[in-house]
Amino acid sequence: IAMALACQPKLLLADEPTTALDVTLRGQILDLLAGLQKKNGMAVLMITHDLNLVRRFADRVIVMENGHIVEQGVVSDVFAHPQHSYTRRLIDSKPVRDVTERAPAAAEPAVLQARALRVGYSIPRPGFKGWFKRGEFVAVQGADFDVQAGQTLGVMGESGSGKSTLALAALGLLPFSGELQVTGQAWGLSSASNKSLRRVVQVVFQDPFSSLSPRLTVEEIVGEGLLVHEPALTQAERRVHVAQALLDVGVGVDLDQAQFGGLLQRYPHEFSGGQRQRLAIARALIVKPRVLVLDEPTSALDVTIQKQVLQLLQRLQRERGLSYLLITHDVDVIRAMAHQVVVMKDGYIVESGPADRVLDAPEHEYTKTLLAAAD
Ligand code: ADP
Ligand code: MG
Repeated sequence: IAMALACQPKLLLADEPTTALDVTLRGQILDLLAGLQKKNGMAVLMITHDLNLVRRFADRVIVMENGHIVEQGVVSDVFAHPQHSYTRRLIDSKPVRDVTERAPAAAEPAVLQARALRVGYSIPRPGFKGWFKRGEFVAVQGADFDVQAGQTLGVMGESGSGKSTLALAALGLLPFSGELQVTGQAWGLSSASNKSLRRVVQVVFQDPFSSLSPRLTVEEIVGEGLLVHEPALTQAERRVHVAQALLDVGVGVDLDQAQFGGLLQRYPHEFSGGQRQRLAIARALIVKPRVLVLDEPTSALDVTIQKQVLQLLQRLQRERGLSYLLITHDVDVIRAMAHQVVVMKDGYIVESGPADRVLDAPEHEYTKTLLAAAD
């Protein structure tokens, strides 16, 4: 931004300037831009998929679809009275809450339970000591949380706060100290003893473009878990499971038999972002897990697709009683999905509780900042 502003331009082109930033930083950058705009009379052409941003920052808005401008006008008019169907769909893309609100019975054990969880990374020590000894960076400290059967625990926090580390530990992929139990069973030290647990906890990552191998076909990607957890299946039996998993997530439902056969042999690059994320979900579901760890599952998707993928996740949770450990920086997504929420900052859980309590009456200063910035 400093580089762009050095010559005091009349017009600043800002192409998704804050998309990769967490909410508190985003607020600071926008305040900075607004201040400069006022001071220097600079015009800003801001390109973004974030409607909240448009509402907050812009005076006029242009809506584009497939290379065409389908609508333009004063922001307040367009948001209040959208004329074009695509604009309406965009404005209507705010995720809707549609989850089972049942409170778990008191005696019901948590599906995933952490007590005093601590995860550290081994890092080189500074200076010459680093030649001989390694130090430790503690990324998660003293974390307590429960994920109940059929419910979603939302994890919020800015980038670097330890959310993904928490997720990897829950998946049994990082060494930790403290207690971490999945369906009452602790992760063991040997990978053989963990095999049955690995089946119970599956994962969907943020970016479906890099999380699915470009060299494997859809059949291989989705069926891979069966090779490990049900090695006795024949290839034909496996194919039946793969086909069912694809239909369960809404991929290929509109195809006839011959086209569907071709679908299995396609590669990830032949699918859109939303479809790829459905493939990633099918890949996780095929081994019939109890818990899905969702690390920013819709952050790489645009808002209309995001809404569809969230609806899919909600339906799967209702139908199968799945539990989700849902990591996201998007407060709208938390509002739509979570039953319980934990807020992380610098490796610590600073606030936790039922979603409506944390979101509507936050107690910790940091939670208040996060929520205010997301508005
Ligand atoms: P988040 O997902 O909330 O953005 P992460 O869990 O990825 O946060 O990271 C938490 C902290 O741990 C960060 O400070 C990050 O730099 C550090 N960290 C993450 N992975 C490693 C690693 N493999 N080695 C050392 N430090 C790491
Ligand atoms: Mg992360």
